[in-house]
Amino acid sequence: MKGIIIGGPGYTKRDFVNSGHLDYRVEQSIIDYVDTNYSGEDGIRELVDKAEKLLEDARYVKEKQIVDGFIEEAARGMGLATYGLKETMGAIRSGAADIVIIVDDFEANVSRERCKTCSFTDDRLIKGEEDERSQACPSCGKSTLETETKIPILEYLDKMSELYGVKVEVISSRTEYGKIFKQLGGIGALLRYKLTY
Ligand SMILES: [Zn+2]
Repeated sequence: MKGIIIGGPGYTKRDFVNSGHLDYRVEQSIIDYVDTNYSGEDGIRELVDKAEKLLEDARYVKEKQIVDGFIEEAARGMGLATYGLKETMGAIRSGAADIVIIVDDFEANVSRERCKTCSFTDDRLIKGEEDERSQACPSCGKSTLETETKIPILEYLDKMSELYGVKVEVISSRTEYGKIFKQLGGIGALLRYKLTY
């Protein structure tokens, strides 16, 4: 849960909150108040409609900030913004990525591969429909690599964000700014420091 929106006609909302019956944690989670013309069931319907609009607006503003910020940083040319799947994953693994931005319909999977001969493990990116070719193990050279797990990239990023302290921002692919970001490849990262290749 990200927040609570309280709705009702006139002063009833504030009276409700100020009544002292609410747990402080609930009170802290209140993000906004919505005026409704009705109470009862009609009021709830009205509240849901208005709250949806409110959350949509908030999301729009946030996505605009994220994408604008990213484009600005990329345009500064200081090497603190990177985009593309490979580049972003590289930035995460090196610990340089601070914020990773990805569109919610980005199609890629990450497979964890382990070599049966030498136990070498690696995470391999599989974009779109690319088939899984069994390659030679980079460590021992034998063709004994096996796929242990295969997970969608969003799930993988979730794990990585915990591991490396990366913040992941998922942008809706259907919004104006999501579409702009998609044109940049749909995935990118803001870096803590410049990467030297
Ligand atoms: Zn091997």
